[in-house]
Amino acid sequence: MQKVLVTGASVGIGRETAVAFAKQGARVAINYNSSEAEARETLRLVEAASGRGFLVKADVSDEAAATALIREAARLMDGLNVLVNNAGITRFIPFDDLDAATADIWDVLYKTNVESIFFCCREAAKVMPEGSCIVNLASVSGMLPRGSSIPYSVSKAAIIHLTKCLANVLSPKIRVNSVSPGVIQNTRWNAGNKNFNMDQYQSGAEAIPMKRLGEPGDIASAILYLASERSGYITGVNLPVEGGMNVK
Ligand code: NDP
Repeated sequence: MQKVLVTGASVGIGRETAVAFAKQGARVAINYNSSEAEARETLRLVEAASGRGFLVKADVSDEAAATALIREAARLMDGLNVLVNNAGITRFIPFDDLDAATADIWDVLYKTNVESIFFCCREAAKVMPEGSCIVNLASVSGMLPRGSSIPYSVSKAAIIHLTKCLANVLSPKIRVNSVSPGVIQNTRWNAGNKNFNMDQYQSGAEAIPMKRLGEPGDIASAILYLASERSGYITGVNLPVEGGMNVK
């Protein structure tokens, strides 16, 4: 049986992923930090999908909290064999506004997006059995010099490299891969973007070879694949799920 922890599962891609695992009959630990009501809704959806769900509040950017989260999830589910490091944040800063990318912003993005994954994986490796899987959420922004800000883009590039480093040291016991979403709609992602324009966002889909924006379900499908036996000989890869943005 899959015993899955999804970090940042209160909304968006994390919620969709938690529910998709539940539909397969998995036990799912739903991590959130500040959005308790939304996390309760994820729990309701997980249980409606016939999975067993558990809520675990933790700020994954804090080393001690991330460590405690892994232990608590493993205790609640009586084990842990899939870890999805999905929690992530950004700040919206035009790439050419170098002065706006302050040390505070670099710190919070690096801690939340990168160090959190290292701390969760470090503790998970102690409790996960042979054959377990870790999937990290990177981004096309970590592959191309574009996206919401330079600190975000660099943090996502770091996740792709961290994934390879961890795959190296945790093989063959645990496979570690990353997924790089393109532009995904129906998430809370643009909430802090003062230049966000829904029409422009939608019309941007025309520039994507697949002619549509992504959905959280597109990303959840890729995560489920990388956490399944079907990908049993794959480790250390970064799977772009972006409708072909990389060929444009
Ligand atoms: P959302 O902004 O919709 O949700 C972010 C989630 O992360 C929330 O559940 C939030 O929980 C959680 N989170 C943030 N900080 C912390 C923290 N310190 N501790 C624990 N949880 C935290 O994100 P998306 O669903 O859009 O994105 C999910 C992942 O996919 C992210 O890593 C993102 O970088 C990546 N991605 C998304 C893209 C997109 O277009 N949406 C594109 C490329 C990559 P809470 O509210 O409870 O704090």
